[in-house]
Amino acid sequence: MAQVDLHLHTTASDGRLTPTQLIDLVARKGLRVVAVTDHDSTEGLEEAFRAASAYPDLEVIPGIELSTDVPRNEIHILGYFIDRHDQRLQQTLVRFREGREGRAKRMVEKLAAMGVYVDWERVKEIANGAAIGRPHIAQAMVEKGYIQKPQDAFNGYIGRNDPAYAEREKLVPAEAIKFIQEAGGVAVLAHPAELPDLEATARELKAAGLVGMEVYYAFYTPEKISELLDIANRCGLLPCGGSDYHALGTPGELQPGDMGPPLDVVAKLKGLVKERR
Ligand code: AMP
Ligand code: ZN
Ligand code: FE
Ligand code: FE
Repeated sequence: MAQVDLHLHTTASDGRLTPTQLIDLVARKGLRVVAVTDHDSTEGLEEAFRAASAYPDLEVIPGIELSTDVPRNEIHILGYFIDRHDQRLQQTLVRFREGREGRAKRMVEKLAAMGVYVDWERVKEIANGAAIGRPHIAQAMVEKGYIQKPQDAFNGYIGRNDPAYAEREKLVPAEAIKFIQEAGGVAVLAHPAELPDLEATARELKAAGLVGMEVYYAFYTPEKISELLDIANRCGLLPCGGSDYHALGTPGELQPGDMGPPLDVVAKLKGLVKERR
């Protein structure tokens, strides 16, 4: 069990726990430092900080997760210590969330063309004001009995190379890094294991301002972690990570703190934030 978990989602995006429920859970588990990293949204942070004020031994880092475009693939960039009151940050996030909504609607239409009828209104209801994502559509598909579990939607329906997948406006990774920096934060490469040419990409993004990459991530094996740790060290990137908890309730789902970096990484991240400011 880790003391730190730097990758957690709430109902502000596609997680199933409210920020308060998440913070109560991580406090109960004895975690010392957590980052709330919703997709394209900081809307959960206020509530998370409020909930955390009941737990003096728990530190909450304001975070975000941005999806970025690379040819034939997608790279997720985490931002830590961002200033959620930054107006430009919020304006851009609103635009991203609008993009998510239009794109989710297109996916629902494409599903209908495949004979899979989910109700757009129901998808909106499930998202309940959050940054809308594919897991919300997946849940609507489960409800209608088209699939057994949300994961199945990513296999033949709305997975990246599936027929009902739709794109939206995204930044390229270097733009996302700059965007996070401009909001006062530092950028970290998320779940990098699947990326082709990881080391070259990591070096390139480090040159663009990246400060860390996830090494201690969710389901990564000890072998994978040690391989990623070597790459992070060679590239001069801080080894970060976390559970990427969404509270989906699926069997075997990792819980907050089941994976995470050592505590000293947090101080190092803070040092880099100070340096930048
Ligand atoms: P979106 O942001 O709409 O592109 O949806 C991406 C989110 O869907 C990820 O953050 C995960 O929560 C979830 N997701 C992506 N791929 C899978 C998968 N193969 N199985 C289950 N969930 C997935
Ligand atoms: Zn997610
Ligand atoms: Fe991600
Ligand atoms: Fe995530």
